[in-house]
Amino acid sequence: MTVERAQMDTCKWMAEADRVMAATYKRTPVVFSKGDGCTLWDTEGRAYLDFVAGIAVCNLGHAHPAVANAVFEQAKTLVHVSNLYYTIPQTELAAWLVDHSFADRVFFCNSGAEANEAAIKLARKYFKDRGEPDRYRIISMIQSFHGRTMGTLSATGQDKIKQGFSPILEGFDFVPFNDFEAVREKIGAATCAILLEPIQGEGGIRSADPQFLENIRQLCDETGTLLIFDEIQTGIGRTGKLFAYEHYGVQPDIMTLAKALANGLPIGAMLAKESVAAAFVPGSHASTFGGTPLVTAASLCVLKTLEQENIIGHCAEVGLYFKERLQALKHRHDSVVDIRGLGLLLGMELNKDGLPLVEACLNKGFVINCVQGNTLRFVPPLIVQKAEIDRLIQCLDEIL
Ligand SMILES: *Cc1c(COP(=O)(O)O)cnc(C)c1O
Repeated sequence: MTVERAQMDTCKWMAEADRVMAATYKRTPVVFSKGDGCTLWDTEGRAYLDFVAGIAVCNLGHAHPAVANAVFEQAKTLVHVSNLYYTIPQTELAAWLVDHSFADRVFFCNSGAEANEAAIKLARKYFKDRGEPDRYRIISMIQSFHGRTMGTLSATGQDKIKQGFSPILEGFDFVPFNDFEAVREKIGAATCAILLEPIQGEGGIRSADPQFLENIRQLCDETGTLLIFDEIQTGIGRTGKLFAYEHYGVQPDIMTLAKALANGLPIGAMLAKESVAAAFVPGSHASTFGGTPLVTAASLCVLKTLEQENIIGHCAEVGLYFKERLQALKHRHDSVVDIRGLGLLLGMELNKDGLPLVEACLNKGFVINCVQGNTLRFVPPLIVQKAEIDRLIQCLDEIL
C-alpha cells in the first residue's frame, strides 16, 4: 500500500469514528493497528514507543505471547458460564490475590468504576448489618478519581467530572489530600469509610505522605471506620511493588483493582478482609460478566509472568532511573516545575499547557499523555528498557 493510500485510510477511519462514536473523548489523531512490547504501529506503518500503555493497563506490553496464548487456550475451552456456577480460573485468580495481599476475599467485576461501586456498597452494608444504618458517609479526597458511574463520580473529588449529572449520589465528604487535620474535623458518627488512592493518578501523580496514611489508619482503627484504597492505577506492580500500600506499611480493609489486572482484558476486583467481606451474602451484589474464565485465565497468566520474570523488580529499578533522568531535565528546563511519582507511575508538571508537548512527542514517535492540563504522565509497560527511556528523554529534551 502506498503512503498516500495509507494516509487516506487513516483520515477515513478518523472521520468515520467522529461521525458514529459518542464524542466522549477528544482523541489524538492517530489510528493504532498493532502493538508488540513497548511499540505501537499506526495504520501508516509508523512505529511509536508507548509510554501510556493504554493508561497503565498493558503492564506486560502489547501482544504478550504468554497472555495471547492463555486467552487463545481459554477461548477454545470455556469463555463464560455466569457466576451461578464454580469455575477454576476464577477460583485460582482469587486465591492468588488473597495469597499475595492483606485480603481474604475477592469480588470480580469488569472495570475500575464497578470495583469502587462494590467497595462503596460493601462499606454501607457492613454498617447496616451491624445495626448502624445511619453510618453511610464516605470521606474522599479532593483531586481524587474513582470512576464515571453515578456512584463513583459522586465519590470523585473533581467538579468537572460531575458537571451536568446532578443530582449526584448523596453521602460523600471531601477533604484536601494529605491534610490529616481536615480528615479529623470531617469524620463523624455518620462516616462509614475513608476512600483514597495511595498515589493520585488522574489527579496529577500525587503521592500520599507516609504519615498521612499512618494517621488515617490509626483514626480508622479508633473509630471503627473502614479504610478503602483505590489501587486501580497503582496496583499490579506499577509503583515497583505489587500494591502501592506495601511501600507505606499501611493496610486497607478494602482495596479495588482493575486496569493492569489482565493486561488489557476488562476486569475489576474488590478485595476485602474477612470481617468486612462477610457483609456480602448471596444476593447482595452481582455481575454477569464478573470474573469470566476467559479474563481470569488471562489475569492469572499476567500475575504469574510478573512473578516469574521479576518484572516488578525491573519496574522499581528502571522507574528510579527514569525519575532521575526526568529530574535532570527539570534542572535544564525552566518550564518543568516538578517531577513526581513512584516506580513507573511518573509525572512531570509544567508551568504551561502540556497538550502541545503530547502532540510534538507523537510526531516524533512517542506516545505520552497529560493529566490536569499541565502534568505529563509516563506509565509505560513495566518491561520498558533503559535505552527506550533514554530515547524519550532525548525527545523531551529537544522539545522542551
Ligand atoms: C482508571 C481509574 C478508575 C476507573 O476505572 P474504569 O475501569 O475506567 O472504570 C478508578 N480509579 C482510579 C484510581 C483509576 O485510575
